[in-house]
Parts: sequence; structure tokens; C-alpha cells
Amino acid sequence: KSVMDKILWRRSLQLHDQQHSWQESPDGRKMLEFRRNLPAYKEKNRLLAAISQNQVVIISGETGCGKTTQVPQFILESEITSVRGAVCSIICTQPRRISAMSVSERVASERGEKLGESVGYKVRLEGMKGRDTRLLFCTTGILLRRLLVDRNLKGVTHVIVDEVHERGMNEGKVLTNLRIVISDRNAHLMPDFLLIVLKDLLSRRPELRLVLMSATLDAELFSSYFGGATVINIPGFTYPVRTHFLEDILDMTGYRLTPYNQIDDYGQEKMWKMSKQAPRKRKSQIASAVEDTLKAANFNEYSSQTRESLSCWNPDCIGFNLIEYVLCYICEKERPGAVLVFMTGWDDINSLNDKLQANRILGDPTRVLLLTCHGSMASSEQRLIFDEPESGVRKIVLATNIAETSITINDVVFVIDCGKAKETSYDALNNTSCLLPSWISKVSAQQRRGRAGRVQPGECYRLYPRCVYDAFAEYQLPEILRTPLQSLCLQIKSLRLGTITEFLSRALQSPELLAVRVQNAIEYLKIIGALDHNEELTVLGQYLAMLPMEPKLGKMLILGAIFNCLEPVLTIVAGLSVRDPFLAPMDKKDLAEAAKSQFSHDYSDHLALVRAFEGWKDAERGLAGYEYCWKNFLSAPSMKVIDSLRKEFLSLLKDTGLVDCDTSICNAWGRDERLIRAVICYGLYPGISSIVNSVNARESEIPYPWLVFNEKMKVNSVFLKDSTAVSDSVLLLFGGSISQGEIDGHLKMMGGYLEFFMNPSVADMYQCIRRELDELIQN
Ligand code: ADP
Ligand code: MG
Repeated sequence: KSVMDKILWRRSLQLHDQQHSWQESPDGRKMLEFRRNLPAYKEKNRLLAAISQNQVVIISGETGCGKTTQVPQFILESEITSVRGAVCSIICTQPRRISAMSVSERVASERGEKLGESVGYKVRLEGMKGRDTRLLFCTTGILLRRLLVDRNLKGVTHVIVDEVHERGMNEGKVLTNLRIVISDRNAHLMPDFLLIVLKDLLSRRPELRLVLMSATLDAELFSSYFGGATVINIPGFTYPVRTHFLEDILDMTGYRLTPYNQIDDYGQEKMWKMSKQAPRKRKSQIASAVEDTLKAANFNEYSSQTRESLSCWNPDCIGFNLIEYVLCYICEKERPGAVLVFMTGWDDINSLNDKLQANRILGDPTRVLLLTCHGSMASSEQRLIFDEPESGVRKIVLATNIAETSITINDVVFVIDCGKAKETSYDALNNTSCLLPSWISKVSAQQRRGRAGRVQPGECYRLYPRCVYDAFAEYQLPEILRTPLQSLCLQIKSLRLGTITEFLSRALQSPELLAVRVQNAIEYLKIIGALDHNEELTVLGQYLAMLPMEPKLGKMLILGAIFNCLEPVLTIVAGLSVRDPFLAPMDKKDLAEAAKSQFSHDYSDHLALVRAFEGWKDAERGLAGYEYCWKNFLSAPSMKVIDSLRKEFLSLLKDTGLVDCDTSICNAWGRDERLIRAVICYGLYPGISSIVNSVNARESEIPYPWLVFNEKMKVNSVFLKDSTAVSDSVLLLFGGSISQGEIDGHLKMMGGYLEFFMNPSVADMYQCIRRELDELIQN
């Protein structure tokens, strides 16, 4: 044996002895006792045998059975026992930053160690890892990045991909995709992407072990993707949970739907009417009224159409008040036990938290321990949710769907499920996507319910009618089918993973469904100038690939940086990433519209936002931000989010080198409205419409002939969301190439411009200026 071998051997023995003495200590013994009672522990030997005999093993089991905390530890322990402890290197990926951090901490404490000894973590911009770290928890993005610089994962002996079923980052579905993407730059490269890369790696590294862990029944799908890999199921046990749908809840609690429960869109108005006519309907009557509402919305059988109609049944309309009511009901009438409330995002959680703090029962710390749990929370805060409250105090946790599978709170007996989660939804037709609360799948709903049955029989309150549940999709669509592929395509190119089409044809699911969308995405990227005709990245494309956001937003930021007008542009881009900060409550629609029109007198929703935000900023400095929002029908949480996103975007731009760290981001010209319109146009192209098509503009008054828009929304008729009117010259200069057909169409409407456009020299001039602009960007 070489000297090195001897050293490693001795180190392994040391590790072994350390563990042994920890397990003999009183705390260690208690911990071991806890671990031995987990279902995963009972399968330990079977799991280890499978992992040593097969290159790929898939492990499934109920949430909470011990996959995440135990399986990596089993591997580590068995390596240590077989005296390879000092040479093994186990990487375990987590779908989210917060779980990588909390799980590593938990595992370290189960081993009686501090973080950074044998167990560590690494997430973007943060980590805790020492010389002796053998088990590393990290995000998917971190592993992907490592794969780029180290194709063969030299030295790594085991890769564990945890929560593979979690296809993408539906984390809190926090306010936007962007938040998550920013918190871990490559997180939007979903597991599907990682799996393609890992599958490639397996043939080059035959001794490498790959373990996929999942909570749902997708195991077979993953198994067949890896050529029939071994599947091991950990049998779990949960207590029965009783389900109460909205109609039962209304019946049981005597809650009355009243007219002023945050009524702010179409469906909510319906709800309101229904309750006004019949404030105290019985259960069956309520159910049939609900069905009528849904039928009226063309709600027959499940289809994507139905899913759209479902959005007219919006639980938010009764949301906060009903949740408060049910919580009080539980506190007053129900047996002891913690309550877990599933909400859509952290902005909602914060508002609800404020509301509950003011409640006589729920805000009383001698009776209730009110906690929140979401992805952007510090880990010290997060630890509180695992603590047991003092006796007589009821723990209530307001959580995003992070508590669905990633985090297990053991003492939960009651679950309140709002039925929605923020997820990126994608409209293939218009190639647009947005992050909106949408209905969860049946699998998710069952998963949420299951959280109530961990320690004793539980209760699940679903704040939606049974017929809505019946129409839920069975499974959530994998992320790769939900998001626009544009960013992904840019990543594939910038990571030099070959041609886009070839790479994505190896996707885990539905490559044929992907094909059309991939083609659309490539086409789009060519139109906006991110890819050249050979599908190679242009310089613009290279910059866009560095910015983890939709290319159109990235384009605005880039041009904003070049023209030194980032102050307003940052606001616009941040504003496009959050839910519409202009509120439109149903009962005060006119007032709200009047309030908005003070800001948007010149036909730009984007400039309106800039003005509203700047007004808020001033008011906020004088501590009057909230009043300002109230008066102007603005959402205060959205304003705060915009404020913090602006900072994040700016630091990203600094990372890419597009913005100097010390020079000002906005010069005197930077607030010129025409310039900003040009930047908006540059970003949103080809989202252009001539004014004639717009249903919501007072056509004759608009100073400019074109509207650039962020999104086409289909509600009753198509209307344009977030649009800005721009002039011919802006469109010509900043609008990418315009087809002859479009010009022709425009000419028909705008007879006066005919000669101008027909003049061949205009076309030449246009080409020339565009070229200059492109050069400007390239340098
Ligand atoms: P799985 O990955 O199968 O969902 P985990 O390994 O995450 O399960 O959790 C196993 C058990 O350990 C659960 O019962 C959970 O309550 C407990 N647990 C996990 N993390 C913590 C923690 N930070 N503090 C206390 N208990 C924890
Ligand atoms: Mg887990």
C-alpha cells in the first residue's frame, strides 16, 4: 500500500470511531433511536445492496419517510465502515436552495457534527464545506455548473438527485420565476436538463453511482429513461386524513360569504353575487351554485380550456377572510395539533400574517405560535417551524408549497389548502409565459392532505369545491413543457452542449411535444437577434445567456445599460416580473382606473409604472408608502418586491460587466421618455400591434401608431397587457426587422406615411442604422 492509501485508511478509521462514540453518547443514542424509527431505516440494507450492485437506482417513498436525510447518510456510513470513508465523495442535489441548506444542517446534527465537517452544502454565493467534507448537499444549478468545468465529475463517487419528481422550481412559486432563478442562477435548468447530462456521463464513468429519489409515483418513468433501472419503494405509513371541501367548510363553520371579501376579478364577482342572493345556503345548494358558476364558464370536462375556465373560480375571493375564519374555528373547536396553511407565495404569506397578527385569537402569543415558511427565508427563522410549541399553544405555519415535499413538519394535524400554487404557465400559442397562481394537480392536493397524517389522524380543509378538485389535472406538467424554452436554448448554446434540437430530443418526457416548441423558441431567438442563422449565439445572445431572465427582459436591461437609462428600465423590468401592481377591485373599478390614468396619460403602461414607483419611493422615504399605495390603488407588497428586484437585477448587470460598479446608472438623458420607449420597443419586439387591433385604447387620442406589448392575454377577447405606444421611427430603429407584409398592412391604415415608406432609401437607411446599433451592442 502506498503512503497515501495508508493515510486515507487511517482517516477512515478515525471517522468510524468518531461516529461510534457519538452514537454511544446520550444525545447520539436519542438521535439514533429517532432515525431507526424512520421507514427508510428499515430498508437500509436493501437500499445499500441495490446501490452497490447497480449503477442507477431509483428510490421512491412517502414524504417524511427519510429519503433525504437518511439515504445519503447510509451511503456515507457504509463507505466509512468499508474503510473507503476518506475517499468517497457524495453529491446530493436539492431542487431548492433552502432545502440544500436545511437538510445539510439536519444531517450534520444527526451525526453529532457541525456543518462543514463530513457534511456540507453549497448553493450560489454561499456554502459551508471543509477539507473533510464527504457528503455535499447542493442545488441542481451548482452540480450543473460543476459538470461544465469538470465533465467527468472527477473524484465524485455518488450522485444523488433528490426530488426528481419536482420538475423545476415551483418553489413558493415565489413571486416570480426570476426570484428563484436569481437566487440560484441555473436553477431554471430543471432536473430534466440535469438528467440528460448525467445520463451521458454514466457511460464515461462506469463506477459512478447515480441515485434518484422521488416522492411520487413517477418512478417507472425515470426507470425506463435509464434503461429499466432498479426501483426501490420504501413503504410508508400515514394516518387517515379527513377531507373537507369548501361546501363542507361553509356548512360546518357557518361562515357567510359577504360582499366585501376582496372582490377583484371576474370569478370573484360571481362568488359575490352568489353569496348575496343566498347568504346562508345549505351545503348542497352551495355545491350546485358552484357548479352553475363553473358551467357558465364553459366548464365541462377537463382540458386545458377547462383549466383556463377554472381560473374564474378564484379562491382568493374568499381567501384571507375564510382562512382566518377556519383558523379561529380550529383554535376554538378542534383538538390540539399544529396547522399548516398552504399559500401561493411569500407576498401572500406576509399579508395574511399581518392580518392574523391583528386577530384577537390568532394574534395572541399565549394561544398561538404563528410562523411562516417560504424559500427566501433565513435558515435560523426556518428552524423555528420544527420546534414544538409550549403546551396549550397551537403552532400555525403559513407555507408555500415548499412544505408539500421539501420540508416535513412532524406535528401537523390540520392542513388548510388554498388549492393553488404559483407556477409558470405557458401559452404555446403566443409563446408567452407568466407566473400566476394556478390550480394544483390532484397529486399535489393529495400530497398536501397527507401532511396532516404524520402523527395521528388529521383533517384537511380544502378551500375549493369538490367539483373543482375533480377537474384538477392528475399530474403537474413537467416544467420543461410549461416554460418557454428560449432561456433554455440560450443555455444549451452557451454551455456548448451541441445543437439545441439534438440536445432536447433526448429529454426525459415527450420529446415529440417539445419539438414544435423548440422550433418556435429557436425562431424567436433568431428574430430577436440572439442566434444567427446557423443557430450560433450572437454577442447579444451571449449576454442574454448570462442574464437569468426572459430574453426580452434581458434585452431591455442591456440596452438600458448601453444608453445609461437604467433607473426607469430597472423599474420596468422588475415590474414585468411581478404581478400587476395596479389593483382593480371589482367594486371600485372606476376609481382604480381613474387612479391609474393619472400615471398613464400617454399610453404607456410601462411608463405609468415608472411614475407610480417613483412616487411610491418618495412617499416611502417619508414613511408614507402605504398611504400612497392605498390612495392610488397600488399593491404595496408588489412595490416592495419591485424595489428589491431592481437591486438584484443591477447586481446581475454588474456581474456581466455591462455596468460599471461605480459610475452612475442613469445620465441626464436617461429619463427621456422617448428613449425609454425605444428601449421598451427593443425588448418587446416582435410583440407589436397596430393601434387598430387594440380593444382597450381610445384609438384616436393615441399619439403613436404602434403598440408594443408584453403579453397577449386571452380573456374574453384578446387584449394586450402592459403595452406602450411607440412611433414609426422608434419601431424602425429598435423593432428588429419588419416584414414587407407588416409594412404593407400598416400602410393601408396610415395613408399619410405611404410615401415615406415606399421610398427605397428609407429602407436602406433603416438597415444602416440597425447595423450600427448591432455594432454598438457588440462593442
Ligand atoms: P423525506 O426526504 O423522505 O421526505 P426526510 O429525510 O426529509 O424525509 O425527513 C425524515 C424525517 O426527519 C421527517 O420525519 C422529518 O420530520 C425529520 N426531519 C427532517 N428535517 C428535520 C429538522 N431540520 N429538524 C427536525 N426533524 C427533521
Ligand atoms: Mg425529501
